[in-house]
Amino acid sequence: MPSISSSTTLQAQLLDELSRWELAGRSRALHLPAGLDFTTNDYLGLSNHPTIVESARRALLQWGAGSPASRLLRGHLEIHDRAEKAMAEWLDAQAALLFPSGWQANQAALTALASSEDIVFSDELNHASLIDGCRLTKAVTRIFSHNDPSDLRSLLTKAGPARRRFIVVESAYSMEGDRAPLETFAELAHEFDAYLIVDEAHAIGVYGSSGSGGCQDIDFGDRLAARIVTGGKALGVCGGFVAGSRPLIDLLLHRGRSFVFTTATSPATAAALTAAIRLARAGDERRSRLFERTQQLRHLLAAAHLKILGSGPIIPVLLGSETRALEVASAISRLGFDVRAIRPPTVPPGTSRIRIVCHADHTPESIETLGRAVIEACRGESPSSGASLQGLPPLPRILTVAGTDTEIGKTVVSALLVRAAQKAGQPVRYLKPIQTGTDLDTETVCRLAEIDSAHSPKPIVELPLPASIDQAARSANTRVEVESVARQTTNLIQKVPEALWILECAGGLLVPINESEDQSHLLLSLQTPVILVARSGLGTLNHSFLSIEALQHRGLDLRALILVGDAHPGNVHSLQTRFPDLPILELPRWPEVSPQALDRWLTDHPLEFLLP
Ligand code: PMP
Repeated sequence: MPSISSSTTLQAQLLDELSRWELAGRSRALHLPAGLDFTTNDYLGLSNHPTIVESARRALLQWGAGSPASRLLRGHLEIHDRAEKAMAEWLDAQAALLFPSGWQANQAALTALASSEDIVFSDELNHASLIDGCRLTKAVTRIFSHNDPSDLRSLLTKAGPARRRFIVVESAYSMEGDRAPLETFAELAHEFDAYLIVDEAHAIGVYGSSGSGGCQDIDFGDRLAARIVTGGKALGVCGGFVAGSRPLIDLLLHRGRSFVFTTATSPATAAALTAAIRLARAGDERRSRLFERTQQLRHLLAAAHLKILGSGPIIPVLLGSETRALEVASAISRLGFDVRAIRPPTVPPGTSRIRIVCHADHTPESIETLGRAVIEACRGESPSSGASLQGLPPLPRILTVAGTDTEIGKTVVSALLVRAAQKAGQPVRYLKPIQTGTDLDTETVCRLAEIDSAHSPKPIVELPLPASIDQAARSANTRVEVESVARQTTNLIQKVPEALWILECAGGLLVPINESEDQSHLLLSLQTPVILVARSGLGTLNHSFLSIEALQHRGLDLRALILVGDAHPGNVHSLQTRFPDLPILELPRWPEVSPQALDRWLTDHPLEFLLP
C-alpha cells in the first residue's frame, strides 16, 4: 500500500513549520460549533429556514446529489438558470453567473476583466480572495488605505497609462464592520476613467432596498463593472455569483477559469439559493429586527466605553493583543456564547479583536446577556454574575397536533392534551394558528378541557371558506405566509413562556398554505414536536405511513400516533411492527364528547408522558 508521507524529510519540514505557528501562538484547529451563534454571517437567520431546506431536499430528489461535470460540459441544469435569473432580477443586473463559492466568483471576475495591460487599485483590507484574484490578473496592483478616497485619488493621479483601470473594494468589510464610501468611489471612477469591481459578500441581504446590497441605490453610470455576491452569508447557503452586464457574463464563460474548469454547483445548493433569494428579498421584517438587535448591542457596548468598530451587524471589539482577544473569547464562550477571536494574519498585528455578529433571530434577552458578558470579560472580570445563558427565558414548550386528514378528531385530541397538562399541574394554552371554515375549534377545546377562553387566544389567521388554507386564502383575496404566522405564534407564546402550548394544525399535515409552503413548514419554523392523529378503520395504514414518512423526512419529532375510531388491533400491529418505538394509542369516537368523557378516558390512558 503506498504511504502518503513517504518522505520523512518532508514530514519533518512540515512539522517544523507547524511548530513555528505554534510558537507564535497562532495554532489553528477545527472545532465543532458549540454555544449560541454570534459568529457566523447568517445575518438574517436563514441558514435553517425550512423553506430553504425543503427546496434543497426537493432538488436532491429531482436532480440527484450532483451533476458531475463543468457547467459547459453537461453539468448545467435548469435550476442553475433559475438561481441566476433570481439573482440578476434582485440586483437589477442584466445577468448573473453562479459559482460553487464566492472565492471562485471573485477570481473569475477579476481575471476575466483585468490582465497585465491594466492597473488595479485595491483597498488594503480587501478579502484574501480579492487579493489573490488581483495577483492572478498580473495587472499592476496599487493598494490604497482602507476606505480612503483621498489616498485612492492620489494613486489614480500618479498612475501611468493602462488599457483599463479597476477600483476593487468590498461594500461592507467583514473584519471592520464598516462600509465603503461607494458614492465617492463612483465619482473617482468617472473622473479617472476607472471601473469599480465591488464584492458585496457582507452587504447582500443586509443593505439596500429589499436587501439588494450596498451598490443598489447608487448611480454608478457605466462605471460598475461587476458585483460579486456570496451565498454563504445572509443567504445562509453557500456559493457565489458574479452579476453585471450580459457581455461580462458571456466573457466569464470563456475566460473565467474558476468557472470553466470546476464542477457545477450542486443542484441542492442552487435550489436552496433560489429559495433564499426570494426570502431575503422579501425579508424587510428580518432586516429591521437585525438592525434593532445591532443597535441594542452597539449601544450597550459603547455605553461601557468598549472600543467597537464599524456600524453594522458585525461588531468588532478591539482588544489589541492576541492573548487578550483569545482570553476574552474563551471567557464568553464558557457562558455558552460562540464568539471568536480574530488575530493576525487575518487582521494587522496589534489589532486583535473579538468579532460579534448579530442575527435577526437573536432575542433581545440573548443580546442583553451577551453584552453584559462581553463587558465583564473585557474589563478582566470573570463574567459569571448572572451573565450566562441560564439568565435567558426558558425555551418555549410547544406540542402540535397534526392529522393525516381533516375531520378526524384533532380537536378532541388537543382538548385531551390540554386536560392532561392541567391534571399534571402545568400551565397550558391552546392555539389554532390557522382556522379555515366557520367551525370554532378554539371554543370547542375551551368547553371540553374546561379552560378559560383567556387561555386560548383566537387563531392568527381566520378564513371563512371550509377548504385548504391556500384555497381559503385565495377566496378571501389574501395570501398566508409561514414566516408571518410563525412569528405571530412565537410572539403569543413569548407572552406566556412558562406555559405548555398545545397547537392544532388546520386539516392534514401537508395542506398547502400558499403555492410553495405547507403546514409542515410552519411546524419546522416553530421547531415543534408533533402528535399525529389518524382514523382507525380500513385505509388508514397508507395515510399513516405516508404522513410518518413525511414527518421523518423533514426531521420533525413525532411523539405519538393516535388512531381515532373503532379499535382495530390489526392496524396497530402493522404500524407498531414498522415503528416499534412510536407510542400508538387508540381513541374511540364518543357519541357525545364531554369533559367527563375526556376525564374518564384519561384515567385509563394518562398522556403526561407525551408532554414536552
Ligand atoms: N469575499 C468576502 C468579502 C468574504 O468575506 C468571503 C468569505 N469570507 C468571500 C469573498 C469568499 O466567499 P466564499 O466563502 O463563498 O468562498
